[in-house]
Amino acid sequence: MRADLNQYSVEDVCEGFVYNELEGRGLYGLAGQLVIQPEYQRNYIYNDGKRDVAVIDSLLKGYPIGLIYFVDNGQQFEVLDGQQRITSVGRFVTGKFAILRNGKEQVFSSLPPEERKLITDSELLVYVCTGTESEIKEWFQTINIAGVPLKPQELLNAIYSGPFVTAAKAEFSNSSNALQQKWSAYVKGDPKRQEVLADALGWVAASKGQAVDAYMAAHRVDTGIAELKTYFTTVIDWIDSVFTASPDKLMRGLAWGRLYEAYHYQSYSAAQLNADLQRLLGDPAVKSRKGIYEYLLGGQQDTTLLDVRIFDDTIKRQAYQQQTTKAQVAGTSNCPLCAHGHNANQTRTYALNEMEADHVSAWSRGGSTSLNNCEMLCVTHNRSKGNN
Ligand SMILES: [Zn+2]
Repeated sequence: MRADLNQYSVEDVCEGFVYNELEGRGLYGLAGQLVIQPEYQRNYIYNDGKRDVAVIDSLLKGYPIGLIYFVDNGQQFEVLDGQQRITSVGRFVTGKFAILRNGKEQVFSSLPPEERKLITDSELLVYVCTGTESEIKEWFQTINIAGVPLKPQELLNAIYSGPFVTAAKAEFSNSSNALQQKWSAYVKGDPKRQEVLADALGWVAASKGQAVDAYMAAHRVDTGIAELKTYFTTVIDWIDSVFTASPDKLMRGLAWGRLYEAYHYQSYSAAQLNADLQRLLGDPAVKSRKGIYEYLLGGQQDTTLLDVRIFDDTIKRQAYQQQTTKAQVAGTSNCPLCAHGHNANQTRTYALNEMEADHVSAWSRGGSTSLNNCEMLCVTHNRSKGNN
């Protein structure tokens, strides 16, 4: 791969600038010669009124806005790095946003002529790279230059760019897709940063025992995304059918693909599940509330998912004292299970730090985490009791 350093004025780069508002990306510049946002690039994310404005402020102050990289593909240039900056400049010059100058909102056309000239005459430093597609993409993966670091899925999209990624992004990375709102109840992350696509791919790939990159490689030249879309929709519909109450924010970002694989063959009573869900959501003893969903799907067996609050030290000490006093009067061990045993521990008095607190009536069967439900057991007996 070679890289030649060139200079282009903002005026040249912005000639024929086209911005697609719907897809949120800059399309062309340099009078049609430059593809600003090739498919393998992430969407435009500088339109936040801060980073886009900062680019224009830099130009007005005469500051450089950093190196830009184009790829010469033999027919056109593609922006390899710098598309956020170029899109910001292009959007400003074409009147898409305003900046604050001396306390007043100004769009490009309302700026004084000398300031407009300052912007359009600014020179951009551009490396134009030539090489094979794989050389360039490998390099793109390593540079990850200035600005916002790429998300893992953005990198994968670059590496496996092609018709499959294009179709998948049209479905999952488009924030104006009406389904995004429904999905956002269960999937966490920004569609524009490819985080919804990352989940969709992660789920379908895992269901086939594949890694995401292997799945993307296998489907790279597919023109459709039927399998990906069907699987994702199936998981979402399954969540909706099992948990019928309006989604709690705890549901966002759970490992739904894995949960679907593990539990979708089981049948549940939606009404019972919802009643149990509401009870657990309101139970102060549940420390890990995110674990409630998997706990319910798994038939309320694995209390470790809930990280149930244990007895605090005051309660343990009180229970220990009550038990030990009673045991000494009776001449037995202060561990009630040892006291009923038939070995030397039958009369052993354990120290507080040799004992652990146990729910007399198990928490999972409604027992409370209070003094009257607390029993101190020796470590051996407590650990052999299991689920409480
Ligand atoms: Zn014991």
